Amino acid sequence: MTGHAAEHERTMAFAEIALGQIKALRQAASPRNYEVWYAYATGYHPSLNQKINETLQQSGALTDADIEQIYETYLSPTRLTDRIDKVGHQVMGEIEQVMAMIDAAAGSANSYTESLADMSEKLGNSKDREGLRAIVEGLVQTAKEMEASNQKLEQRLHASKQEIDTLQENLEAVRTESLTDPLTQLANRKFFDTTLDDAIADARAKNEPLSLMMTDIDHFKNFNDSFGHLTGDQVLRLVAMSVKQNVKGQDTAARYGGEEFAIVLPNTVLRSAITVADHIRRAVMTKELMKRSTGEHLGRVTISVGVATLHKSDSAQTFIERTDACLYAAKRHGRNRVMCETDPEVAATGASVQVA
Ligand code: GH3
Ligand code: MG
Ligand code: MG
Repeated sequence: MTGHAAEHERTMAFAEIALGQIKALRQAASPRNYEVWYAYATGYHPSLNQKINETLQQSGALTDADIEQIYETYLSPTRLTDRIDKVGHQVMGEIEQVMAMIDAAAGSANSYTESLADMSEKLGNSKDREGLRAIVEGLVQTAKEMEASNQKLEQRLHASKQEIDTLQENLEAVRTESLTDPLTQLANRKFFDTTLDDAIADARAKNEPLSLMMTDIDHFKNFNDSFGHLTGDQVLRLVAMSVKQNVKGQDTAARYGGEEFAIVLPNTVLRSAITVADHIRRAVMTKELMKRSTGEHLGRVTISVGVATLHKSDSAQTFIERTDACLYAAKRHGRNRVMCETDPEVAATGASVQVA
């Protein structure tokens, strides 16, 4: 099956689940209801699923208001932008306050200079001790005021620097969140897309090899059907961990879709990428799964993996398609295996695979 056909099949499966839920709960088939239930079916937003499950458990139904609130909290496309805007406004507010403070300080520095000039003139004209004493006292007083006002400014600047540091950390956290898959904490699809583009450009510039790996859990639908979607989510986390533990610092592991992971391996030849893929495959198949809450044994899951290496004529899309074709060849040839573009079985499928 081509990547496109698989994608189609997957989205249709999610759509069916979504419509099934709408029907079962006798809700209106409105786009908003559909979007929320579709997101539920994909499992991309574990906290959304948890909220829905809790609400259903408590009241047995989801009202329009519940749906609206869930949408706003977990799905609204403006949510992240709102948070970024908010931090942006806070930074602007902070800068404006500091600028006003600096203006005020410049104003008082001017008046100190004037009063110093005035006193220095008086000093020149003064003849008696009393007069001198008054002038010196005036000077000391002005110096004290200047010091106090400088100290205030310094404290304000210090507080402001801390505030800006915190805001910067917030921005960084929002940025990281927007590139991370919430369920597995791996890179998300958006991050994967830019990483792959960069890695291709880099490999070409340095004339280095670049490999790509795509994995898909075998018969995962059956697993979900037998043990439930939430247990399936735990397994996804476990597979993600096996992936993470077997890749090096320069590699990027991402959740490519529902139960598919993609790993970009810079400066890695096909043979080495296959070795990494096989380590991941073995790590996953050797894990005995157990439901934490009940101790129930759930057996094991396996994964199929496709591996390809960058060709001269590749775009990101053809590179992904070729890797995906290897993955589906692994599925066709029995699953729980790694296949690459030079395997005769892959070449023989007639899938759009060219061997360099
Ligand atoms: P195979 O890949 O071996 O051909 O069979 P499969 O049953 O795994 O088929 P496919 O890859 O097309 O199925 C994807 C299934 O993965 C559909 C859905 O049940 C499950 N799935 C996708 N995303 C998630 C998720 O986020 N959480 C859970 N629990 N399941 C998911
Ligand atoms: Mg799949
Ligand atoms: Mg699968």
